[in-house]
Amino acid sequence: MLPANTLESKEKRMTETFYEVMRRQGITRRSFLKYCSLTASALGLGPAFAPQIAHAMETKPRIPILWLHGLECTCCSESFIRSAHPLAKDVVLSMVSLDYDDTLMAAAGHQAEAIIDEVIEKYKGNYIVAVEGNPPLNEDGMYCIVGGKPFLDQLNKATRNCKAIISWGSCASYGCVQAAAPNPTQQHRFIKSLETNPLSRYRDARQSLK
Ligand code: SF4
Repeated sequence: MLPANTLESKEKRMTETFYEVMRRQGITRRSFLKYCSLTASALGLGPAFAPQIAHAMETKPRIPILWLHGLECTCCSESFIRSAHPLAKDVVLSMVSLDYDDTLMAAAGHQAEAIIDEVIEKYKGNYIVAVEGNPPLNEDGMYCIVGGKPFLDQLNKATRNCKAIISWGSCASYGCVQAAAPNPTQQHRFIKSLETNPLSRYRDARQSLK
C-alpha cells in the first residue's frame, strides 16, 4: 500500500527518480548500470546509449499518476492488486509514482483529495490520469460522489491539464453494465463526458475512426 501521506513523504515521492527508487529497493549501482546496458540493447540502441539511459533514470523524476474511480465493481483494482508478474507492491513502490488512488492509498478525506490539487499544480501538463469506472451524467453527476463532490467534477478537473489518460477496463472504455438500458443514471463511457479539455481531441479522433 502507499506510504503515509505526511507532507515530507509526499514531497519525497513526487521528486524521486527511478534510480533513487531502485537504490531504495536494494539494487546495487553495478546492477543498475547492467540494467541500463541491457535496456539499450533491448531497444536496439547499442551500448553507447547506456550512459544516456542511466543519466535519464538518475535525473528525471517519475511521472505522477492519479488513479480515479467512478461507478464500477472495482474488480479492475482487485485484478491489479492480485497480479504476480510484477507484484502490485513492486509496481506501486518501484515502477510508477502512484500519488492518488482512493482505493489503495493510506490517506483519506480532505488529506487525500488535496493530493489531486497538489499534483495538478506542481505537474501541470506532466502527469497521467488513469480512470476506472465511469461517471453518471444525469442530475449533474449526483449518482456518484467522491470527496463530497460529483465524480464528474473530479474527473474534469484532473484530466484538464494531464499529459495522458488511461481508460482502465470496460466500464471506463465502454460503459459496461452501468450503461445498460434503461440506464437511469445516464451512465456513459468517461471519454464521452469530457468536453472542455485535451481529451475532447482524443474523443473526436476516436469518433472519426468509426
Ligand atoms: S471493467 Fe468495470 S465491471 Fe469490469 S472488472 Fe473493471 S470495474 Fe468491474
